[in-house]
Amino acid sequence: MMERCKYYKKCSGCQLQNLAYDEQLRYKQKRVNTLLAPFGRVEKMIPAENPLHYRNKVQKMFYYDFKTRRIESGIYQSTTHRIVPAVHCMIEDEAAQDIVKSVTKLLNSFKIKAYEERTGKGIMRHILVRTGTVSGEIMVVLVTVSQTFPSKANFVKALLQEQPEITTIVHNINPDGMNLTLGEYSEVLYGSGSIEDELCGCTFEISPASFYQVNPAQTEVLYRTAIDSAQLTGSETLFDAYCGTGTIGIIASQHAGRVLGVELNPDAVRDAIKNARRNGVKNIYFECADAGEYINALAREGERFDVVMMDPPRAGASVKFLKSLCKMKPRRIVYISCNPETLARDLRILTTHGYRTLKMQPVDMFPFTKHIETVVSLAR
Ligand code: SAH
Repeated sequence: MMERCKYYKKCSGCQLQNLAYDEQLRYKQKRVNTLLAPFGRVEKMIPAENPLHYRNKVQKMFYYDFKTRRIESGIYQSTTHRIVPAVHCMIEDEAAQDIVKSVTKLLNSFKIKAYEERTGKGIMRHILVRTGTVSGEIMVVLVTVSQTFPSKANFVKALLQEQPEITTIVHNINPDGMNLTLGEYSEVLYGSGSIEDELCGCTFEISPASFYQVNPAQTEVLYRTAIDSAQLTGSETLFDAYCGTGTIGIIASQHAGRVLGVELNPDAVRDAIKNARRNGVKNIYFECADAGEYINALAREGERFDVVMMDPPRAGASVKFLKSLCKMKPRRIVYISCNPETLARDLRILTTHGYRTLKMQPVDMFPFTKHIETVVSLAR
């Protein structure tokens, strides 16, 4: 019997909380089968070896509890702007949760107040803990609404005494109170200000705001599935669209001739370039651009790529991107999708413009949630 979460209803982060893990898999399988049925048979979903405590990124909001008269931490619900007083989460990393507990305890003993939206009083907003599963490195980001952080040197000392595995501590200032985002200004209080982790044998730097997949064990499964379906032999030109911090392209680069990654977010592109250098990869290039505009320009100039890997956000790819992609005629397309609905919509365009699906492989990246990740390979 799987343990049940008592915050299930209030939190609503885990929509499939009421199902045992094999029931969750069956539910997701049925859903992806139905959505992708027009394009062929869907493979059996690859389950997570460990469906519990997989999240390497933990974020909690601080608030003042009038009953206990203490600072407490809870899960911030972005839809309702409410804080759910959940102490323990089944999918978050346990060491990270323990660090949140220590920080909460120390905030109380240092008498540092939580920011209160109604009165504008208090300073402490939220906390972000990111862990490198392979490296064991841990980053703690403490977010306040203003520059003040009383006795921060002593606070850091006390926190490190309680949690010596922490490798870096960052103070971030976000004057915009009620949300979980980071502000522009950060000060490193301890360590280097970022952590490193490994995926498929490559090393990646994770800074407080950079995008990094939240389930590292399943990310390796996902990336391996995607790179296998690309069937690279070492000489191909590879286009990594929506490349984020360059992870897929960097890992695939050892099997390709030349790789080009395109990404809209300039910070992610900066991280991607750094990551490529960090791994000594010399055959990869990055461009900061809209993937649709970029591939359209390439197609117009008659530029070709042998293989295109694409990993768009939940909204899927633009029609412009898909049409230009079909015009460019790569031998193979590998579509990594975190939303089977937009995937089905986009596959319709690709399959009516000369492509057929070879394999559709779902991977369970987010146990207990409704989210479904799928890798689809297509050929002309
Ligand atoms: N492949 C990466 C990131 C996938 S997330 C990984 O596995 O880590 C999707 C990425 O698409 C995000 O980094 C987002 O910034 C980027 N993106 C969103 N819209 C885009 C667009 N129109 N053109 C290029 N990149 C875009």
